[in-house]
Amino acid sequence: MPDRARGYEVAVLGAGCAGAAAAYALARRRIAPVVVDTSRPDGAVPASAAVAVQSGTPADIRLAVRSAERFPELQDAIGGFGYRRTGGLTVALTDADAEMGRARAAQAGAAGLPVAWLSREETLRREPGLTEHTAGAVYCGYDGVADPGALARRLLAAALGFGGATHLDCGYISIARQNGGFRIRTGRDEIVARRVVVASMELLGMAVRQLGAGPPARSGRRRVAVTERIAPLLRHTVNGIRQHPSGELVLDPPALVDEGATAENARALVEALRRIAAAAVCLVPGVEPARIIHAPLLVSAEPADGRPAVGRLEDDLYFALAGADRAVTYCPVIGDAIADAVSRNRWPDGLDIWAPGRFAVVAAGAGTAGGLGPDRGVQDSSQGS
Ligand SMILES: Cc1cc2nc3c(=O)[nH]c(=O)nc-3n(C[C@H](O)[C@H](O)[C@H](O)COP(=O)(O)OP(=O)(O)OC[C@H]3O[C@@H](n4cnc5c(N)ncnc54)[C@H](O)[C@@H]3O)c2cc1C
Repeated sequence: MPDRARGYEVAVLGAGCAGAAAAYALARRRIAPVVVDTSRPDGAVPASAAVAVQSGTPADIRLAVRSAERFPELQDAIGGFGYRRTGGLTVALTDADAEMGRARAAQAGAAGLPVAWLSREETLRREPGLTEHTAGAVYCGYDGVADPGALARRLLAAALGFGGATHLDCGYISIARQNGGFRIRTGRDEIVARRVVVASMELLGMAVRQLGAGPPARSGRRRVAVTERIAPLLRHTVNGIRQHPSGELVLDPPALVDEGATAENARALVEALRRIAAAAVCLVPGVEPARIIHAPLLVSAEPADGRPAVGRLEDDLYFALAGADRAVTYCPVIGDAIADAVSRNRWPDGLDIWAPGRFAVVAAGAGTAGGLGPDRGVQDSSQGS
């Protein structure tokens, strides 16, 4: 029933930070998008996610700095989403860690990036709550925190203000090609769109199955622990640990990946929380008396190399995948990149998250891999168009 389906220029599939940022940037350029999601930007994510600038390759850091510079103006424009620039420390506890940290900071410094190595004394001066056993830390002044659920909701509300539309909580989504565009069927209704931006790895998997080929995915699970409110203890983000202004700590040590614990497996969950708490106490002894009151689970699907990926699979099919723990950090630049690509057929230069060489094609149903050249898939930013 093509006549009854509502038509849009662009459908953004996925209302997480990346999809909401793409919708906001498109709507501001007067390309009113429709955002479609089986659920809605939720409270399942912790109220404090890291805006983590210092991790990754020099290209990742450069991109994250560019993104972090946008947060204050974004917060002014769309309303508060808990963004604060705290500065971040990646603390070394052993001489070997310190050696790696020094090398990483030197490499970033040589590339002109705002990342520096701090001696043990300087580290403890800046963050007195840290263990005395630190050997120093990598410091980045751009690191911060933001509330991912509030960020996505604010972006969507602002997109609606510029003429966008949303179909949230829509049950299910399936997608098919039709008349040079797309027909998107949901649990409630049907939408047709000339172009589609896939902003969720799970959805990209579905689009790949239904439409063609795309970058390979990996999935993972991670437990984050949130404590009761305690007196101010931390000034910076410290190895992923951060303190909300109201006093809760989010314990999110990057080395602890929880592959096994589920709500059904209480013993594994307790063990995972014990490991998270022990790692946090080891870094910041003052957290020991704080009780964990909430432990959200991040079940994620992301590009196989764990880094953000933004690109175009075909002329009218784009993807914006932020990565499981970088969605917040990168969402302003990802939104702008997608909007530039859709509205002006232009990609930013010099950033390898847009480059084709990173991925091999996974052909739908075949499971085979081959090079993804500009003629077959993700557009090479350096080529322009
Ligand atoms: C415990 C935890 C800790 C986190 N820590 C951080 C952090 O420190 N820093 C950071 O930047 N981020 C962090 N995140 C991630 C981040 O908060 C969220 O994942 C992010 O807001 C959403 O990312 P995304 O836009 O890439 O979308 P995705 O998470 O990939 O999903 C986007 C949307 O797609 C929808 N969707 C999925 N499958 C389907 C489907 N089949 N059909 C229709 N819709 C579908 C989902 O409902 C979702 O709303 C954390 C998340 C959790 C849960």
